[in-house]
Amino acid sequence: MQRTLISLAVMLALTSTLSASAQAAAAKPAASASTQITTQLPRNAVPSHYAVSLVPDAAQRSFSASVTIALDVVQASDSLTLHAADLSFRSAAISAGPGQTVLAADNISIDAKKQTVTLHFPRTLAKGGYQLKLDYDGKISTQASGLFSLDYENGGAKKRALYTQFENSDARAMIPSWDEPAYKATFTLEATIPAGQMAVSNMPVSSTSTLADGRQLVRFATSPKMSTYLLFFAMGEFDRASKVVDGTELGIITQKGMVSQGQFALDSSVAVLKEYNDYFGVKYPLPKLDNIGAPGSSQSFSAMENWGAIFTFENAILLDPRIATQDDQQTSFLVAAHEMAHQWFGDLVTMAWWDDLWLNEGFASWMESRTTHRLHPEWQWPLRAVDTREQAMGQDALATTHPVVQKIDTVEQASQAFDSITYQKGEAVIRMLEDYVGEQAWRSGVRNYMAKHKYGNTVSDDLWRAVEQAAHKPVTAIAHDFTLQPGVPMIRVAAASCSKGQTRVSLTQEEFSKDQPDKKPLRWRVPVIAQTVGGAPVRTLVSNGKASVTLPGCGAVLVNAGQTGYYRTLYAPQAFASLASQFRQLPTIDQLGLLGDSRALGMAGQMPASSALDLASNAAVDAAPQVWNSIAGVLLNLHGLYEGKPDQQAALDRYGRQRLAPVLAHIGWQAGAGESTAVANLRESLVVALGAMGDDSVTAEARRRFAAVGHDARALPPELRRPILGVLAENADATTWEQLHKAAQDEPTPMIKAELYGLLGMAKDAQLARRALELALADEGGVTTSAAIVGHVSGNHPDMAYDYSIAHYAEFEKKVDASARSRYFARLGGRSSDPAMIDKLRAYAGKYLAPQAQGDTNMAIAAIQYRIKVRTTRLPDIDAWLAKHQ
Ligand SMILES: [Zn+2]
Repeated sequence: MQRTLISLAVMLALTSTLSASAQAAAAKPAASASTQITTQLPRNAVPSHYAVSLVPDAAQRSFSASVTIALDVVQASDSLTLHAADLSFRSAAISAGPGQTVLAADNISIDAKKQTVTLHFPRTLAKGGYQLKLDYDGKISTQASGLFSLDYENGGAKKRALYTQFENSDARAMIPSWDEPAYKATFTLEATIPAGQMAVSNMPVSSTSTLADGRQLVRFATSPKMSTYLLFFAMGEFDRASKVVDGTELGIITQKGMVSQGQFALDSSVAVLKEYNDYFGVKYPLPKLDNIGAPGSSQSFSAMENWGAIFTFENAILLDPRIATQDDQQTSFLVAAHEMAHQWFGDLVTMAWWDDLWLNEGFASWMESRTTHRLHPEWQWPLRAVDTREQAMGQDALATTHPVVQKIDTVEQASQAFDSITYQKGEAVIRMLEDYVGEQAWRSGVRNYMAKHKYGNTVSDDLWRAVEQAAHKPVTAIAHDFTLQPGVPMIRVAAASCSKGQTRVSLTQEEFSKDQPDKKPLRWRVPVIAQTVGGAPVRTLVSNGKASVTLPGCGAVLVNAGQTGYYRTLYAPQAFASLASQFRQLPTIDQLGLLGDSRALGMAGQMPASSALDLASNAAVDAAPQVWNSIAGVLLNLHGLYEGKPDQQAALDRYGRQRLAPVLAHIGWQAGAGESTAVANLRESLVVALGAMGDDSVTAEARRRFAAVGHDARALPPELRRPILGVLAENADATTWEQLHKAAQDEPTPMIKAELYGLLGMAKDAQLARRALELALADEGGVTTSAAIVGHVSGNHPDMAYDYSIAHYAEFEKKVDASARSRYFARLGGRSSDPAMIDKLRAYAGKYLAPQAQGDTNMAIAAIQYRIKVRTTRLPDIDAWLAKHQ
């Protein structure tokens, strides 16, 4: 699954405020494959095949269905319990096979809380094979879980299409099933659909017939053995384009008339499939792989890796020539690369239980980055590695974090596991380990793992074993340190001494914590790469807390050179000063790493809070665009921390404008011919940051261009459209806001319409923000847009957004898909700096959430507490620095 993508502006502001859930756990060995896999069901039966017959009634948002499940009773019993959510049963009967006695269940009992149905039979079922047939009815949701509908306009007509979303535990809302990843089975699906519509599932259509009433009965070929959460079904008025590559038919499916906007995604898929067939050493096993684009959005995900039928929301896959930017192209490519990596890592080989969700998500995230760099080197993707690490560490350095491999008991806990630790820390740890064992050895390990476990389930140690065998290096011990215990190592670098052309430096391993400064550090074995600036890199493994290393050359010492390590680096003051003075000579990736570390260490009180500003002062106006992007992020984040302190914020904003305006002048408002994506992205960040920091010329230019749209087609080119509209929306008066509102109402294209409605929530003006909340409550922009509007309001008005959504909880609960709920409300409040919010969040969690579902609330509270601490104790240092530098 790809987590919901957030806008650049929100991303910039959030980078250092993300955080997480669960208790710190001591390192212990991972469960071996022989340990019994966690299940919420009795272990008396195992399914092997589901034959599903589905008759959706889209207009009534309901369906009727039947399923025949081939299963083995492995322990004699007179009852069977399987998952079912919101289904009502008409009949249940079992037989030992064709021609055998049919035994009807004499009692069907539903446990709504556990989401199970138990079938009691009048006689004990002996061990052996059976066919269980269930007839039932169910509901079609309006949010993306289970079988759900999306309403949209196409060519002026109202349309409704149906799709499914089953991860982590919603297959049970469409099919009574053993709905856990380890219960793999084959599936044959058939569906009765209206004439003129297209039905899509994991496998190709095997037959279509027309019924007497004109409807079509569509049958799909039998799937390979797979987990229930990967099943997919969609029906609607769709278009499809396809290409055959290496014997696989790759398809793109969209609402009518939009398939050309998926051409880039289709071309990307062609390149990615070839790459993966080679990398994994196991050829993609299904006859086809579709990517289904759908209007709307979800608060929990952008795309889902259903086997052979990837689902992606339009805004993460389609490129509308009126609005698409280079950044959108990257997103479209990345999302395809991520979901396609899952076709192997996740679909072909699946984690046994949600404890190891990171095996799916960390690996797919790493593979997405690796593949993006291989196939689009011009995007300089490796420079994003520091962002990835920062996102993970932001969460991982709070007491509420959890290990990458974590104990999951409930469905709610599984939903909460889709977080920065699972994705970004997982990715960062894999990057470090691949670098440690070498690219070739890592790939051989992955190939052996794929070959050995295909169509099966695994735990993390299965991967470590395969890599260790291929690499002949003790990688398991390091992997355990980083995946079984939570937190962020910190390498303290002592002042170095140089003699005879060699620099000797000693390293100490501590732990970086934002909210437990006196915590006794955990121990990690940390692979470290160090060098003198411009010298050759030297590798060492810091174990037992200490190491010393001799580097060729004299000069400033750089630790974590290349930034593949998952740890923070804290330099002795002179060592930092000498590195800062050579900032411009460092490779771009190390400039980014140094900025990230000094910001985080400065905010946590390990360095002067102004250290990152020292680096910003040393950056040249023509420094790499990624470096300026990062500096804009540092400044925008400080701007946010100064909220409610107008005089001090004004001083920061003055400095910010003074640093960033010359950079915008240097790259200009108009894109140059053949300009890199990094420059285009930087322009967007600079406009956003300068707009937020009150740069009059930027806001004036944004207004001028918006006013000129009617008569000047070049006024709002796609590359500038979002930042300009963002600046306008944020600074909007009632007239501008109404203009944007009218544009949103008049816009026929769902993807653009949703974006315009989102803008309405960005207003700094409290009354306008309030009106955006009212529009969201009324679902004026559509039922899957409302939650996003409130999310935008929380950027400038977290307390208002939170209070409003909680005051209308019954309505807003319905606007968020079930798996995102416990996270959604916590996040709105988590952006607050008001101590009163902590009690509000506790009250909300106590009232609405089971104890196991409160991880995101605890994380939000930890983030607020940390922000309050930073505002009180760290900003004075920034004030003093600003007073000296204006
Ligand atoms: Zn994923």
